[in-house]
Amino acid sequence: ASFGFRDVPIGEKQGLVDEVFHRVAARYDVMNDAMSGGLHRLWKDAMVSRLAPPRTTRKPLRVLDVAGGTGDIAFRIVERADGNAKVTVCDINASMLGVGRERAEKRGLAGKVDFIEGNAEELPFERSSFDAYTIAFGIRNVPRIDKALAEAYRVLKPGGRLLCLEFSAVDVPVLDRIYETYSFKVIPVLGKLIAGDDEPYRYLVESIAKFPPQERFAGMIRAAGFERVDFTNLTGGIAAIHSGWKI
Ligand code: SAM
Repeated sequence: ASFGFRDVPIGEKQGLVDEVFHRVAARYDVMNDAMSGGLHRLWKDAMVSRLAPPRTTRKPLRVLDVAGGTGDIAFRIVERADGNAKVTVCDINASMLGVGRERAEKRGLAGKVDFIEGNAEELPFERSSFDAYTIAFGIRNVPRIDKALAEAYRVLKPGGRLLCLEFSAVDVPVLDRIYETYSFKVIPVLGKLIAGDDEPYRYLVESIAKFPPQERFAGMIRAAGFERVDFTNLTGGIAAIHSGWKI
């Protein structure tokens, strides 16, 4: 397949995205560290801190982690909540979920994290099922972002919170130029060198460049019905955490 995603019709995008993540699943975690220099770990920690899962409540916090892939967010939530959270990872890709299940077993977290195959645009859950909906580096892969946000709203309980971690627009002079060069010139080369394949990493870079910047994305979240929407930039806007509440 061609990963020149620039002008892919919306109906074809998901198939191409699925192929990317089938191809990278086995190397996904190693590549994340290599390409972000470990930064993705700090960004993920920052999102889970915003969620601040309580360690003591009578009922465990029910969290849905969409596009949860190999489980990074789910494991952090469960560990931080000291077991007092139940996380469902929902991802469209069986290969990514397979890696996640294996990791959960190894960490002894299999009872605290479920892995379910499903599409963010059409979640296989009842309305008002979850206290929180998290999605990390997932939403830009979804062809119809408005549908995914509407689904997030539907499955959250009233009082529930959406947290979205995603690559965003760099707002620091000089850093923006360095970042652009790194993305378009270095990332595909690293992909080729380390993973033997540059195409998935060209997709990565293009999909980031196409994703709406902070304010515009916040507007989309509001349009889905969320209130008290705000965002926090991480590392000069390389990534951002958006938050919204279903009131
Ligand atoms: N959240 C994980 C993390 O931060 O490490 C994985 C992020 S990975 C970059 C993107 C994930 O989005 C992949 O696992 C992919 O299968 C998933 N994905 C893409 N389109 C999706 C969709 N429509 N519904 C659910 N998951 C989707």
